[in-house]
Amino acid sequence: MAWVLDLDGVIWLGGKPIEGSVEAVKRLDSEGEQLLFVTNFSALRKAEMEAKLNDFGLDATDRVITSAMAAASLIEPGERVLVCGGPGVTEAVQARGAEAIDPSHHFDRNSSIDAVVVGFHKNFDFDRLAVCARALHQNARLITTNTDPTYPTADGLLPGNGSITAAVATAGKVDAVVAGKPHQPVAKMIMRHLGKSDPAVNDIVVGDLPSTDGLLANELNFRFGLVLSGVTDANTALKLNPQPNMVSANLASLVNQVLG
Ligand SMILES: [Mg+2]
Repeated sequence: MAWVLDLDGVIWLGGKPIEGSVEAVKRLDSEGEQLLFVTNFSALRKAEMEAKLNDFGLDATDRVITSAMAAASLIEPGERVLVCGGPGVTEAVQARGAEAIDPSHHFDRNSSIDAVVVGFHKNFDFDRLAVCARALHQNARLITTNTDPTYPTADGLLPGNGSITAAVATAGKVDAVVAGKPHQPVAKMIMRHLGKSDPAVNDIVVGDLPSTDGLLANELNFRFGLVLSGVTDANTALKLNPQPNMVSANLASLVNQVLG
């Protein structure tokens, strides 16, 4: 069966592995289960994401899908793209054979921009916003990695990529196409990576957030395994929509529940 695993809140939390998660992934591998890591995080490059998992002793080569890659799947080779995001988005756009242009750098304003891709970055500012908005007024497509409004940190909630996307969409007077979880571009990419056209009965998405991981499971027609090791606690789990097919304390106990 296929396992689609979220990273933050499932494999790690605050950069530290969640107890038993590494062993659980190793068990899935040793039992020949198909496995993909899928995250809405877009800022890091592919090799950096893989290295984070490698540091825990997990083989992640070509097994990580980020929302940056999902966004880039909507770009055609040869297109000129303004990247209003981090290095992960730039790399993914270039990997598609498109030109990635930094809106804060000088570029030829007379040749047209095909798309603006938005991803989380901390150096977002008014000038980048103005450059991206102008391209959108001139009919560039607006694509964003994800629309999570905020994200939790040790210092409380910080603005997430949904906040940046809202600014760009508002100034550009267009709606963004969303590529990451729980939307169709990332779902298509997952099926392509798994090499399947239809879900099997036991295929499962494991995550800590119903609004992304649970709805992704719906989109894929997979089961949803909710883990309580991230942002959702047992009390809220009771009144969730969508209702998970399984609820477990963490990935380790979920894997034991499924594989016995
Ligand atoms: Mg998560």
